[in-house]
Amino acid sequence: MILKFSNNVSTSQIKAAMSCVSDLGIFSHLVNLDQECFLISPTQPSTEDCELLKNIPGVSSVVVLATPYKLVSRGFKPKDTEVNPASQWNISKHTFSIIAGPCAVENEQQILNIANSVARAGACALRGGAFKPRTSTYDFQGLGEEGLRLLQLAKQESSLPIVSEILDPRDLELYADLIDVVQIGARSMQNYPLLKAVGELGRPVLLKRGMMATVDELLQSAEYILAAGNPQVILCERGIRTFEASSRNTLDLNAVATLKERTHLPVFVDPSHGTGASRHVPALSRAALACGADGLLVEVHNCPAAALSDGQQSLTCEDFKNLITDLEPFCALLGRRLIKSDRFFKQKSDLVQQAVL
Ligand code: PEP
Ligand code: MN
Repeated sequence: MILKFSNNVSTSQIKAAMSCVSDLGIFSHLVNLDQECFLISPTQPSTEDCELLKNIPGVSSVVVLATPYKLVSRGFKPKDTEVNPASQWNISKHTFSIIAGPCAVENEQQILNIANSVARAGACALRGGAFKPRTSTYDFQGLGEEGLRLLQLAKQESSLPIVSEILDPRDLELYADLIDVVQIGARSMQNYPLLKAVGELGRPVLLKRGMMATVDELLQSAEYILAAGNPQVILCERGIRTFEASSRNTLDLNAVATLKERTHLPVFVDPSHGTGASRHVPALSRAALACGADGLLVEVHNCPAAALSDGQQSLTCEDFKNLITDLEPFCALLGRRLIKSDRFFKQKSDLVQQAVL
């Protein structure tokens, strides 16, 4: 059940409604989202109780939803949510966003080189891990705080907004002013304290599907973020574990269609982790665009063979340029504008100014 309060509801009316709900034996949570206030419960009240709740002073509507997720559900909000991580970057059904960059930030030269290449090629944001979740404790774990500093430098150089994964809620302050989109990785999809923490952050969150999580579990994780007050969530399909051993993961494009049906949140696809092989990234990128994804998360490295993580699935900067050239006409065909970086716009306007002078 979602009980929505009217905009001018008073604190005492909320308190009275809460005790009425609890008197009916319904356990509920108070949620503040987008300047609106709700009481949300997993219980489905009877038609009789619904009528009673609707008539409480200060209540504007009562919606009964059978799904375990509520605020992220299309049943609750039929219209697509638009996410705006930066001034020129609007995620909607009319646009297509390509986030690109290395799996991990390795050093200054590497990240600046890749940032400039992907910005020139037409990426809308730079990705790069500073804190890396690695299966082996002996593998490169990322540069940590220094990695975040280098991402900041890359942002200044390239004008690209930054997407980077957070592993630990205690690091949240480090991300607060630096990172435009906070990524929650597949391994952290069910780290509930982390989901609650990013829910309190006034920043968009890119939530990746756990490698063994169902679509409904992904939606319930997203619900944690919205219930904590943050409506700016982007979901990301990145491949799941199946019996199929010919690729690192099985990219579940069914999930894109299912998610589009069940939620109003934007859906991205990560064909790099989804396939584990750079040669398959262009085909699966086209497929993701064709089946309704709103954007891609693609790993790009200036020298994949020497990458400290995920080199085998990283495109070269040249491959990435070709990928964008290949996808742009498909975007146009589907009525989606490919979002390009501020710098691209600046370069264009500089050129126009030079031409005028
Ligand atoms: C990543 O994006 O580099 C990453 C670690 O992804 P995932 O969490 O999907 O494995
Ligand atoms: Mn990676």
